Amino acid sequence: MLKGIAASQGVAVAKVYKLEQPVLDIQKVEVTDLEAEKAKIERAFAKTVEDIEKIKETAAGHLAAEELAIYDAHLMMAQDPEFKSQILDEIENSKENAEYAAQTVASNMVSMFENMDDSYFKERAADIKDVSFRLLCNLTGKTIPNLATLDSPVIIVAKDLTPSDTGSLNKEFAKGFATEMGGRTSHSAIMARSLEIPAVVGVKDLMANVKSGDTVVLDAIAGEVIVNPDEKTIAEYKAKGAAYEKEKEELKSFKDQPSVSTDGHKVLIVGNIGSPADVQAVRDNGGEGVGLFRTEFLYMKSEDDFPNEDTQFAAYKEVLEAMQGKPVVIRTLDIGGDKKLKYYQFAEEMNPFLGVRAIRFCLQRKDIFRTQLRALLRASAYGHLCIMFPMIATVNEFKEAKQCYEDARAELIKEGVKVGDDVEVGCMIEIPAAAVLADQLAKYADFFSIGTNDLIQYSMAADRMSQSVSYLYQPLSPSILRLIKMTIDGAHKHGHWCGMCGEMAGDELAAPVLLGLGLDEFSMSATSMLRARRMINGLSYAEMQKLADKALEMDTMEEVSDLIKSAIGK
Ligand code: PEP
Ligand code: MG
Repeated sequence: MLKGIAASQGVAVAKVYKLEQPVLDIQKVEVTDLEAEKAKIERAFAKTVEDIEKIKETAAGHLAAEELAIYDAHLMMAQDPEFKSQILDEIENSKENAEYAAQTVASNMVSMFENMDDSYFKERAADIKDVSFRLLCNLTGKTIPNLATLDSPVIIVAKDLTPSDTGSLNKEFAKGFATEMGGRTSHSAIMARSLEIPAVVGVKDLMANVKSGDTVVLDAIAGEVIVNPDEKTIAEYKAKGAAYEKEKEELKSFKDQPSVSTDGHKVLIVGNIGSPADVQAVRDNGGEGVGLFRTEFLYMKSEDDFPNEDTQFAAYKEVLEAMQGKPVVIRTLDIGGDKKLKYYQFAEEMNPFLGVRAIRFCLQRKDIFRTQLRALLRASAYGHLCIMFPMIATVNEFKEAKQCYEDARAELIKEGVKVGDDVEVGCMIEIPAAAVLADQLAKYADFFSIGTNDLIQYSMAADRMSQSVSYLYQPLSPSILRLIKMTIDGAHKHGHWCGMCGEMAGDELAAPVLLGLGLDEFSMSATSMLRARRMINGLSYAEMQKLADKALEMDTMEEVSDLIKSAIGK
């Protein structure tokens, strides 16, 4: 069995179509007839434009306008007079063959884009690679396999899939794909979700272990590829796929419904994201907002320095605009602990998880904090922004962070920059000291969001990364539930709302007791949202309040778990 990342959920069983791209071996040759080389370039560009137009035509049948825009961008590149004239100049100046000149100009252009700060331009490098590969194939007479010509059901296995490949996919025959490269937010993963076909990406050693004609099971729920399974295994996975599809249909009916208990108590089900690209999944799954944007990924992706104000502004604005006025909770930088940066050396500490992490780092490096707060405030004009500070332990820390926010706001207003007037400034509750003092903290914060991943780690004194103490990760322990209750009650006492953005919020077994404790907002991964809504919409708030009261008086998490299971009939 080969392991990868489930990029688009589902299960498929079919024969393998192994996609192997032509290998280009272009050597430099000195030429005398420069005009003949230039003519080759003209012909290759014309053919490339023709190819992309055909792909766009095929893709138009099954992709939404948003995704089709990528082919317009490809067409623009293939028709870019500057790109072509650079190649023609290279032929003229270096007296070399058309193929080599085109390869040189294209690879310079790709590395120029790859090295740009702006994430939008960085991503464009993949498009330039795609277009220039097609151009080079047309120059060298090589054929790029065309997935539009598939005529029997297959699972595509490839090192990577380019936008041209995914655009040519015909859902009737392409039952799914597995790739060696890529992550959840790579282009091919996004396309797979949009096409709603199962995909497993980032599968190590895939190409070496699979050949055309093999039968594979693609389990894009668990992120696994099983090569040449026996009949019994095939039957098991087909059943798993069928059950998944049936549930998916059922869940779809919850997409545009409010999250409301049977006796009319309303909550919000919102999504956790790590980058603007994740917003689509939140919207597709009926998210009523974003409950946690982990901004550290912006910082970790950056190669050589902290991302500047403009880069951050663009990312925050994109998320706020995409959520169209729905609340978007953006967490300020949570770095340190296990999260490192390529361009910054953290001081050595005995216990990094108890050291200079998150808000502690930002309060020590107010210059870095200020850049982020300015970017956030500038973006606040484009939607409903809620900013929250991670790892607050004391009232003074919160007040100091809030002061930095007020300073950045005053500065921008003085500069005449527009900022939103409904920004909420909240506090993450993930340290027991903060949970215990929640009623005091709530005097200063507009809302709370409980980070149970850390709250449990710090309450149980059990490293969240350690397998050997993982038995102490006990969200349903009465001790944790009491801390959660203190937090929610503290917020409500001052008329504020309280959310949760740790993994516990998306745990189906925890939902009944969290509802009963009065949690207002549940933030989780996009794929858990519809299940959570189905659960909430089937529960009585009054009943769950009674259940929560009982749970708080129990001794162990096992007892709480049994209580919930019997209440929801599991
Ligand atoms: C948490 O601690 O629950 C949380 C949401 O933050 P992170 O997992 O990013 O530490
Ligand atoms: Mg945390």
